[in-house]
Amino acid sequence: MFPSQHTAFIKSEAQRLGFLACGVAKAGFLEDEAPRLEAWLKNGMHGSMSYMENHFDKRLDPTKLVPGAKSVVSLLLNYYPSPTQVDSEYKVSKYAYGRDYHFVIKEKLKELMESIRENIGNVEGRAFVDSAPVLDKAWAAKSGLGWIGKNSNLLTAKTGSFYFIAELIIDLELEYDHPVTDHCGTCTACVDACPTQAIVAPYVVDGSRCISYFTIELKENIPSEFQGLWNDWIFGCDICQDVCPWNRFSKPHTEPLLQANPELLSMSGRDWEEITEEVFRAVFRDSPLKRTKYSGLRRNIDFLKQPQD
Ligand code: SF4
Ligand code: SF4
Repeated sequence: MFPSQHTAFIKSEAQRLGFLACGVAKAGFLEDEAPRLEAWLKNGMHGSMSYMENHFDKRLDPTKLVPGAKSVVSLLLNYYPSPTQVDSEYKVSKYAYGRDYHFVIKEKLKELMESIRENIGNVEGRAFVDSAPVLDKAWAAKSGLGWIGKNSNLLTAKTGSFYFIAELIIDLELEYDHPVTDHCGTCTACVDACPTQAIVAPYVVDGSRCISYFTIELKENIPSEFQGLWNDWIFGCDICQDVCPWNRFSKPHTEPLLQANPELLSMSGRDWEEITEEVFRAVFRDSPLKRTKYSGLRRNIDFLKQPQD
């Protein structure tokens, strides 16, 4: 088979496995991203996420991460849920409604890799899901799956931005896709709507000011200067995606493994306020909310409840 046939096979398998889209880029040094990543880290925009400083060279060059790598296969999995939390006093980011996506996507990537080996031959590589050493949005954009918007999310004109991004880095040569053009134009809806002014300039998100960072990654107390800006988020934040006009085209996912947890959707404000560690463990057993732990969720809820000056 030729690279074009291998590529067509991988893309059709990705579709069979339920991925929304699949694109391919040649593995190599990410020249444009290198100075941006360096400046972002230098300005401390990763906050206390010190793991972002690790593996700088590997993050910019997948051939250093996977010896002999020739191609980066990027995959999107839609997570846009229906229904969503409506007028909830305590909001959870949409990606976290169901089972932890890491498990769901890893299974799919494993199946895709097995299928490649069975049908193409002895292909070596590694699979990544939301993993620090890979600049997933940059690779997805390079693979023509969308453009990186002013809110730093990958956007597509057909489906907006509510999807997970995953990659296979493999030592197989493929037929490569080309980037698409940026369609943010003069829009600044995300920049204007961010309550903590974390989008410090178009295309630059200061992670250390982002509600997602504070509610999920931060281990200490949330700085009081942000009191009153939270818009009821207790795990993640979707504001800069919700206001994006391209997300009018989001369609609910059809992935049974990502079904929203009905208990989460039916929780009242009081249920959140009175949640015990035991209930947290039972309800969020396989959920992304486990990342913040009970203590983190408690802190986030208490932060919202604190009286404002
Ligand atoms: S996720 Fe929320 S806090 Fe973070 S940049 Fe977007 S709107 Fe701002
Ligand atoms: S809200 Fe506007 S500026 Fe922001 S990402 Fe969407 S289209 Fe781009």
